[in-house]
Amino acid sequence: MKIFKRDIWKLYYTIVVLSLIFFFIISYALWNQKISAYKDRQETYAISTAYYIENLFSQYETILDIVGKNILNHNLTPQQEKKMLDQMLLLNPTLAGVGLFKPDGTPYLATSNIDVKKIPNLLQTKKTREGFLDALESDRMVVGRTYYLEALKSLVIPIRKALYDKKGDVVAVIASGISLSKKNQFIHSLLGANKIFILRDKDNYLQFYDFEEYLYRKPVGKRALADIFQIMEQVYAKPLRELKNSEAVISVTCTSYITGKLSYSSYKYIKRYKEWIVVTTPLTIIRAEYLNQELILLAIYILILFIIYYLIGVIDRNEMQKQRTLKEQAIRDSLTSLYNRYYIEEKIKNFKSKYTLFFIDLDGFKSINDSFGHEYGDKVLQIIAARLMSLAKKEEHRDIIRYSGDEFILITEFMSDDSIGVCAKGILHAISGEFVIDEFKFVLGASIGVARYPYDGKNFDEVKRYADLAMYKAKEMKNSFVIFHEAIKEKYLRSAMMERELKMALSRGEISMVYQPQVYIDGKIYGVEALVRWNNETLGFVPPDEFIAIAEITGLIKDIGRFIISKVLEDVYEIQQAAKKEFHLSINISAKQFSQHDFLSCIIGKVTASQIKTELISLEITETVFIEDKKHVIAILEDIKKQGMKISLDDFGTGYSSMNILRNLPIDELKIDKSFIDDIVEEKDTRQIVHSIIIIAKSLGLQVVAEGVENMEQKEILESFGCDIYQGYLFAKPMKKEELVEKLIKNKGIFLSTLKNSMLNFEI
Ligand code: C2E
Ligand code: CA
Ligand code: CA
Repeated sequence: MKIFKRDIWKLYYTIVVLSLIFFFIISYALWNQKISAYKDRQETYAISTAYYIENLFSQYETILDIVGKNILNHNLTPQQEKKMLDQMLLLNPTLAGVGLFKPDGTPYLATSNIDVKKIPNLLQTKKTREGFLDALESDRMVVGRTYYLEALKSLVIPIRKALYDKKGDVVAVIASGISLSKKNQFIHSLLGANKIFILRDKDNYLQFYDFEEYLYRKPVGKRALADIFQIMEQVYAKPLRELKNSEAVISVTCTSYITGKLSYSSYKYIKRYKEWIVVTTPLTIIRAEYLNQELILLAIYILILFIIYYLIGVIDRNEMQKQRTLKEQAIRDSLTSLYNRYYIEEKIKNFKSKYTLFFIDLDGFKSINDSFGHEYGDKVLQIIAARLMSLAKKEEHRDIIRYSGDEFILITEFMSDDSIGVCAKGILHAISGEFVIDEFKFVLGASIGVARYPYDGKNFDEVKRYADLAMYKAKEMKNSFVIFHEAIKEKYLRSAMMERELKMALSRGEISMVYQPQVYIDGKIYGVEALVRWNNETLGFVPPDEFIAIAEITGLIKDIGRFIISKVLEDVYEIQQAAKKEFHLSINISAKQFSQHDFLSCIIGKVTASQIKTELISLEITETVFIEDKKHVIAILEDIKKQGMKISLDDFGTGYSSMNILRNLPIDELKIDKSFIDDIVEEKDTRQIVHSIIIIAKSLGLQVVAEGVENMEQKEILESFGCDIYQGYLFAKPMKKEELVEKLIKNKGIFLSTLKNSMLNFEI
């Protein structure tokens, strides 16, 4: 059934084939029925006709017998005899005349309508000799060949019967003839219809067929008749003799020896008079009759087929229309009516020619959605879609697709860098035009990445991915476009590889921790910042800021973050034990890590389980954690503080936040970013900024840590501003656990490389 659903015409062809078979079966049955009807009819005719003819002949036999015996047995005078014969003729007008013959063939008495003298000797006349002899030898009436009797102007069937005396010797032969003139109504009504005739078995002459004299002059074709008898024997599987003896009706299809046409004939043999009664119908007549019915059947059949054809056509057209609409719906985006990604994926599959793909991502669309709601977001997309559509329509073979959300793809012919520039600027221009929805004015930008097939990628997915990467590059500048080039690809491939490798980094033990001391102004250790390290066999040393970003995107940060927390708590406890010194521990927490729902319980669990005093632990967070849900973040920070831990705001000064926000945040420490420290000696402005940061932080009761202190000048300036804690290469680089233990013991907890000796001396 499924196959028909897929192609309904197959159902039609199946119907045609099956109905054709059915039609042939019906036609064949119809033909058989026709033949069988003819068989029944013809056989009934043959039986009844044979019955009548036999009766008729036996009636004549009886008459001849009675009259003949009367004449012989009553010594009558010749006049009386003649009178008797005449009376007989009078009573039987169908008889042509009656005569009596001596056994030697000489005539001696005849009815008045015949002159005895003119009658020849029947034994000596060639025509009559055989019949006469037959009559002499038979105790039955013998029927002779039909001939034309000029005197009567009519066909006559001669009949003769031998008359015997008491001893059984033939004394005379009485002869007569059955007139076949039109007066003989009985014969006419019986045989009048052309299709019945009587055939003599003895000599194959027609006994009666029609009123034409020539028919009776010679026997019917011997060969043709032999053929028919042979067919009979085959069909009935009996020898002819047996068939004749049984007097059964025999029906066969054969070539008529009279008309030469193929006919359906029924034969019935009359044993007593050796005559065949034949009923026959030319096949052409049966066929014509059959064809009349067959034509009606055919007409009905064709009509039904046509109706089915028409209905299936209607169903098929509807189905195709439905499928077209479904297909159209499937490849169209319902909001903008642009093609969707399924369309492009389908189309591009068969796309062999070169093309250029523009990956367009709207700038700032998210904020429209967030601040005005999705209703406005949808309208904005519709407007932008319409603009892009009209842009695409200007040139042939350009498709614009809404790929997802606020991402669109434009496919054009293959373009040079210059043409791409013109086209991309056109797109940016079209998008950045101001538009008004209700009373609100909007101005949007877009970032476009462009890649070309087969120049940049060897299939659509690759080209799209590279255009996407180029778009991310463009995003850094906003409202601009970037054409994909190798460097972008390399960066992408490196991060793809990094992603692959990072997945296995933990299990392979590639992740380790180092610790960078944080010191007071005199170099005495305040604490350490734990910093993660990743050494990979293929990638080598990967800087933490690079792989942490990837771990955040891929979600691997969850496991890595947990590992770091457990590891540093364990390490630092060991260090403290080994060096017999307690100090602070700062752990970096990434924004993604922070937003995990189980972060709080995890950190509290691990910290309370460790043997390090909670008040010695600070979590370093950056301003980015506040981007998401500030209230929620503050609540978590407060929970952390309740446990006794401290919060440190890392990289301060690089983000968007002002000093003002510090007031509301539950933090304990501020880490001034290295970029400020770098310029503090050279730039007065920076110096002033750092100074004010320290003043405000102090006024808020926050501890200040300076990061990346590399030289004495930096240290002295910071010292003069009243900075609390220092971290940087000037004091110590990040180091392994063992090294830190060693140094702590050796330097007695003091890190101040350049001043080492004097400081130590001073202490001593
Ligand atoms: P950060 O938190 O600002 O860490 C300080 C970075 O400055 C460290 O780089 C440190 O080695 C470097 N540094 C310290 N003193 C000096 C100096 O005098 N000169 C110079 N040139 N550099 C100095 P590092 O270890 O490469 O870490 C880079 C960043 O990766 C970190 O910046 C932090 O954002 C992230 N990170 C490192 N470890 C972890 C971690 O365990 N967890 C998380 N979430 N992030 C981490
Ligand atoms: Ca840090
Ligand atoms: Ca930092």
